[in-house]
Amino acid sequence: MHAQRKPRCGVCGRPAPGYDASPGRLWRHLALGQTIFWLHYAPRRVHCREHGVRVERVAWAAHDSSFTRAFEELVAWQAQRLDKSSICRLLGINWRTVGTIIERIVEERLSPGRLEGLQIIGVDELGWKAGHKYVSLVVDHLRSRVVWVGEGKNEETLDAFFDELGEERTKELTHATMDLSAAFSKAVGNRAPHVRKVFDRFHVQKLANEALDTVRRQEVREQAGSQEGKALKQSRWALLKNPWNLTVRQGEKLSELKKTNQTLYRAYLLKESLARGMDYVQPKRASEHLDKWCQWASHSRLAPFAKLAKTVQRHKDGILAYVETGLSNGVVEGINNKIRALSRRAYGFRNPKAFRAMILLCCGGMEFTPPLPVAA
Ligand SMILES: [Zn+2]
Repeated sequence: MHAQRKPRCGVCGRPAPGYDASPGRLWRHLALGQTIFWLHYAPRRVHCREHGVRVERVAWAAHDSSFTRAFEELVAWQAQRLDKSSICRLLGINWRTVGTIIERIVEERLSPGRLEGLQIIGVDELGWKAGHKYVSLVVDHLRSRVVWVGEGKNEETLDAFFDELGEERTKELTHATMDLSAAFSKAVGNRAPHVRKVFDRFHVQKLANEALDTVRRQEVREQAGSQEGKALKQSRWALLKNPWNLTVRQGEKLSELKKTNQTLYRAYLLKESLARGMDYVQPKRASEHLDKWCQWASHSRLAPFAKLAKTVQRHKDGILAYVETGLSNGVVEGINNKIRALSRRAYGFRNPKAFRAMILLCCGGMEFTPPLPVAA
């Protein structure tokens, strides 16, 4: 390998006077069959005005990396497509090294343009390491991709996103979809008060399902030992399903319930009615329906639904925003499912930074061009 004529600082790339020589080093390059190619070179050290004594910049590798750029490009490309053990076998490196390489290449190549022109964003959180750690995501609805990942899941986490986005770009935002958790809602309210919050209807329905299930379990406990209690125990799926998805048997179960347990049947109707309220096309109609629903629920003598009524009342504007816009967190959830699969792979990574890099690598619309064979 020939040295560049004038050495440059490895950190900033500016020309700098040579300082001394360093012993030769090896860079791992691509492989041909079972043969791995290594580059050998003795880089000089330079004295940079800003960074002091540093190893000179080399054209074939990132500073501080012992892999060539071509090799790292291949690692990133494979990590977007292959499972963990395939990558490790094909490249002959361990998984942590893959994590380190991905972290560096994503940091270097992440386009600042991804935060330009954002209008509709979705925010969500995701557990990692069996729920001991969390990352928060910001998704661009229009381009269906992850544009930002932060560690944690509280208000401050999302604050960091707005810090990076800056005031000008924040002004361009119009809508933010999210579930009903308070942290994100607060952050958006503080940092981008003009943005319309859109609460995910499926999360609202999930809360109704949970309320219904709480009522069912209470009834099961009260009827324990009796024939009816046993029947209630088996009614779970009939109750939680949408009516049009019920099997004949489940439909029968439900009509039976109507006669035998009015409390639980009332809870069922409340759950269904809330969902129907969000089916309206006209926000005004939906608004009236939700008001009536909240009244009904709070007087239903079913504590879980009375509680839900308060939640719905508090988030009504954001729920109506769903009716108005039809935006759900669906895009975000879809990406989340993909990331959940990634998180199992990322389990072996040392730190959340590598997980973050993996998410941006696979769901951030990044492209890599490894040296692949070209037909002659
Ligand atoms: Zn420098």
